[in-house]
Amino acid sequence: MAWVVGLTGGIGSGKSAASAWFESQGITVIDADVVAREVVQKGQPALAQIHQAFGDWVLQDDGELDRRALREHIFKSPEARQTLERITHPAIRQSIIQQLSQAQSPYAILVSPLLFETNQHELTQRTLLIDASEELQIQRASQRDGQNAMQIQKIIAAQMPRAQKQQSADDIVLNDGHLDHLYQHLAPLHERYLRLAKHPDT
Ligand code: ADP
Repeated sequence: MAWVVGLTGGIGSGKSAASAWFESQGITVIDADVVAREVVQKGQPALAQIHQAFGDWVLQDDGELDRRALREHIFKSPEARQTLERITHPAIRQSIIQQLSQAQSPYAILVSPLLFETNQHELTQRTLLIDASEELQIQRASQRDGQNAMQIQKIIAAQMPRAQKQQSADDIVLNDGHLDHLYQHLAPLHERYLRLAKHPDT
């Protein structure tokens, strides 16, 4: 198993930008959002379980998951959300563990917007929070996704509060300047992670 850094942050905080930088340094990055989509693809056991739990309407004509229909359904029913998460969370976790075990770089990164919320931090040796003010989060995410500030604010409200993430994380990088500024803060952390991965007891 690789030595793993869990990288998290709210929407628009700069997780993807930070992950891309680590990847450019040769570090394997596993993205929990990507894994979450992979485990419900056609042919995956989790999709069969979802089909069984909810019925035919969750599948499109081509047999793929009808994400929009399912999203609307669980939005209205907390019970349905629980059912869905009982199926997907273990599948996501299993797949993350498998992908981490295959990582070949000196250490690996697990990037997840819900690292603490879904206890995925248990799969990591250290956690890094990419932090930004709510104002910046809204500005960046709305520019990126073309969503309005209200929609972004709703997503922020559903995520763990910033202060709580700051409390939980081992390392914090405040991403409030240019991208170069972000990279300058990541470089010494990368050096430290290389050392820690080699000598976990130091
Ligand atoms: P997350 O993955 O946390 O949702 P992203 O890394 O996608 O956030 O960043 C959100 C948007 O803001 C992206 O378009 C990204 O390129 C941009 N961005 C991130 N950090 C900075 C920064 N320091 N300066 C300028 N733009 C940034």
